[in-house]
Amino acid sequence: MAIKENVQTVLVTGASSGIGQGIAIAFGMRGANVVINYYSDEKGAADTLKKVEAGGGKGLILKADVGEEDEVLRMFKEVTEEFDGLDVLINNAGIQDDSAFADMSLEQWENVMSTNLTGQFLCAREAIRAFGKQKGRGAKGKAIGNIVFISSVHDIIPWAGHVNYASSKGGILMLMKSLALEVAPQKIRVNAISPGAIATDINDEVWKDKKKKKDLLELIPYKRIGLPEDIANVAVFLASPDSDYITGTTIYVDGGMTLYPGFVENG
Ligand code: NAD
Repeated sequence: MAIKENVQTVLVTGASSGIGQGIAIAFGMRGANVVINYYSDEKGAADTLKKVEAGGGKGLILKADVGEEDEVLRMFKEVTEEFDGLDVLINNAGIQDDSAFADMSLEQWENVMSTNLTGQFLCAREAIRAFGKQKGRGAKGKAIGNIVFISSVHDIIPWAGHVNYASSKGGILMLMKSLALEVAPQKIRVNAISPGAIATDINDEVWKDKKKKKDLLELIPYKRIGLPEDIANVAVFLASPDSDYITGTTIYVDGGMTLYPGFVENG
């Protein structure tokens, strides 16, 4: 099916909840073709589709485990067949599986790496391959494709008890930068957003608990927990021609969490 001129086709991984759902809705509101990838939450994906369509976008739901190569290949094949190409990949799917380091099983390490790092590698590689086949696409003189990695402030802030998660996000930082350097001459842009604390399912045991929420707010100079929209607005900007000269950059969307708030009174 041919796409309308200037309508972006955007694949969002892990779009059945939280930040991924927020990003899918934001692109839908701008009339995009939004591919809603999900892992197991079919109901969540259907909810995202409803909201994308209500905003004026066109949606397509595709189930795939981003850590499984054959499933990722199939998903990209279906995307490019349905929409005649791809403009934007939002590499969002991610999990936590926390444990004290001495108790961390190899399975916990590998699960997190598989989704958070291998999954982002596989999807990025397929996006680069898709962009390479569609030269001449995109706004005149601007990028022919965009990748946005959803990383975390824990790509630079160490996190005790979450070594697997922080290592995966640190890996994304160099994956993003090295890839950005490699593909910039092909007019492909690659950036990351590193969220601070955003209220989603991944951390609901923290923001739903009064005491834990209070402790968390101590780490946020701006004194509020973020919302999926805070991330979605930046993702839309990074995927648009308005940010055409930005590549290889991480935008920290964290209410100041990376400003070392412990130094407010102890400098
Ligand atoms: P979430 O749990 O709501 O979303 C994660 C999504 O990834 C879910 O939809 C889940 O189904 C999907 N997913 C998990 N494994 C998958 C797989 N193998 N294949 C495909 N999809 C899979 O949590 P969220 O907060 O929206 O997380 C989204 C991203 O944001 C993650 O990468 C997370 O690390 C990152 N992040 C979140 C926060 C936060 O405070 N919420 C902070 C920093 C970074």
